[in-house]
Amino acid sequence: MKIIRKGNPKQIECSKCGSVLEYEVKDIHKQQVNMNKYCNYVTCPVCENEIKVD
Ligand SMILES: [Zn+2]
Repeated sequence: MKIIRKGNPKQIECSKCGSVLEYEVKDIHKQQVNMNKYCNYVTCPVCENEIKVD
């Protein structure tokens, strides 16, 4: 199997300011959303909105 794209940034649109952001794994941080659930987020550099990513 060949790796066609490795480590390429993913894109997501900020729901608050509409900026399209390119993010990498290193940009993702985890935030606790309740007792035993954590979600991945990136921070929009324009408006500092926390955007949930997969
Ligand atoms: Zn934004």
